[in-house]
Formats: sequence, C-alpha cells, structure tokens
Amino acid sequence: MAVVTDPRRLELPLPGGHDGATVRLHPLLCAEMKAPPGYWERPPGPAAEVRELLLKRRSGWITLPIPAFLVEHPTAGAILIDTGLHGSVAHDPSASLGKLGGRLLAPRMTADQAVPVQIAARGVMPEDVAIVVMTHLHFDHASGISQFPEPTFVVARQEWDSASESGLTHGYFPRQFDHAFQWRTIDFERDQTVDSFATFARTVDLLGDGSIRLAFTPGHSAGHCSVLLRLAGREVLLTGDAAYAQKNIDNRSVPLVCPDEHLYLRSLDEIRRFTEQTPGALVICGHDPWAWPQLKSVYE
Ligand SMILES: [Zn+2]
Repeated sequence: MAVVTDPRRLELPLPGGHDGATVRLHPLLCAEMKAPPGYWERPPGPAAEVRELLLKRRSGWITLPIPAFLVEHPTAGAILIDTGLHGSVAHDPSASLGKLGGRLLAPRMTADQAVPVQIAARGVMPEDVAIVVMTHLHFDHASGISQFPEPTFVVARQEWDSASESGLTHGYFPRQFDHAFQWRTIDFERDQTVDSFATFARTVDLLGDGSIRLAFTPGHSAGHCSVLLRLAGREVLLTGDAAYAQKNIDNRSVPLVCPDEHLYLRSLDEIRRFTEQTPGALVICGHDPWAWPQLKSVYE
C-alpha cells in the first residue's frame, strides 16, 4: 500500500445526535475549473476523452464549480462534507497538486475561498469542526484535508483502499489524505450498521438521529458516498460526484470519465428514484455550473 496511515473502522453512531434533530446547510464555492462541454455527458463515438480534452477549443470550455458544504448540527457541532482545495492553491497550485497537476488542472481560486476562511466568516473556526465526511478522495475534494487536523474523518473503506493504491491518473494525490488524523472507515459491503433507507440500498445513520446519512453510491469512484440531510423544512440530497449535474439525473447520462459505468448507473438510478419519490427535496449535484448560481448561501 502506498500510504502509511491505517484508518480504523467507524463505530456508529458518532456522539452528539438527538432525536428529531435538524441541521443547517451552507454550500461553499471553494474554487472553479474549466472543463469541455462533454465532461458532464459523454458524447457518442470513439475516443470521446481524446476528442473532448485534447481537441476541443479551450475557449468553449465551461466553468465548473468545486464545492464543499458546512453542516451545522445543534448538538453534534460543525460537520464538513468534503474540504475543497487547500488555501495554498490560491497562490501556488503546485504545493497541493504537484507541478504537473497544477498546470494541467489550472484551478481558479482566491484565498478567501479556502474552507477555513469561509467557515470562519460564518462563525465556525476550523477547530470547531467535529466531523468531516468525505464523499470520496479525488483531489478536488481532498486537497483541503490537511487544514483540519482535529476532526474525525469518515470515508468508505472501499474508497480509502482504492485511493491509497492510485495516483493522479485516477484523480488522487495520496499525500493529500495520508495524514495521521482520526480516519474512520465504513465498509458498506460488510458493516452491521449498514441498512437501506428510502431508495438507497446501503446507508448509515452517522449520528443515530437520522439528521445525516451517508448513502453508498459507487461508480464515479470505488467507494463514493452521497449525503442525505434532514433540515427543518425539507430533505436535502448532496449527490457528490455520483451526479455531476441535474441533467445527468434527468437524462440518466454518463460523464466523460466514468471508471465503472455499471455501478455508476446503479447509483444514479437510486438517486433518480429518490428525486421521484421525494419531490420536495433539494438536490445539489457535485459540479453543476447551471444550478450553482441559484443556490442560497444557507438552508435551514
Ligand atoms: Zn469532484
């Protein structure tokens, strides 16, 4: 294994939950990147990746949001969903992404978009964060991890194992997550606490009070998770990269890069059925340039 950190199994529930709790949600725009139009929905025909990434004019590329989320629980404290890009990326992308990664990925970010700065502006200090849920460990979600040495980090066992053995060609920089932090994993194939919820076959109830559930939605990556939140007024589904955009759900479409199409579509079908059965739910997709500008700064 390429990493030295050895995470422990997550004991559920994590402390701080209470019956009937509801959470507040702050979507955070952490950075932006450019991607070709076919990035969201793979165009038909051979060698689509080459055609889109190498042959499409950059002037026609679309600006993609890189989000993270602050969740405020009334008794469990502050919880992050993903960490966005590290603050250093604003002035030196190579420190977190490597020289080649910094140049190829070319993220656009300002210093005040770093998650610690954004949550501080909402009255939450990095040391107040109790839990960080990682939907997966791709660089655009994991780059900011080292800014939070204190919290409990939660990730699917399948994601940790896969990411630990992968590199940039698969979207991972193990040095972003290989820290001796409080890493805890959920094995969605084996753990006793895994149960079905709504339309999702494999979920866990993080605090035991139903306010935050992780739903196993692999396919985009080996151990990808989406997140279900109970707000006072409505339910929220953060799809993560199990659906880059609403149009992936509506069209049942596969993105340009999709490591396991079969698993991706199975997860996407669970998401689709959830949106059909829960029409009042707010669904926020992983990298949706069309929906992001419409989001509110806080949901309660
Ligand atoms: Zn992503």
